[in-house]
Amino acid sequence: MQTAHLSEEIIEQFAMGKLQEPELAPAEEHLLVCQRCRDEVELIVLIVAGLRDEVVRHGPLV
Ligand SMILES: [Zn+2]
Repeated sequence: MQTAHLSEEIIEQFAMGKLQEPELAPAEEHLLVCQRCRDEVELIVLIVAGLRDEVVRHGPLV
């Protein structure tokens, strides 16, 4: 079994809670053992949270 790192796309979707099976299970398993990919996920979560704060501050773009 290869333990390749998660792709940027997988990490992005996981961070946004959009990742679905069959990718979800192996991604979660990899994140359990891989600090590097956890850091990547955390970074994107922060970015996404930051963008949300921005929307909250300025109101929805209508
Ligand atoms: Zn990894």
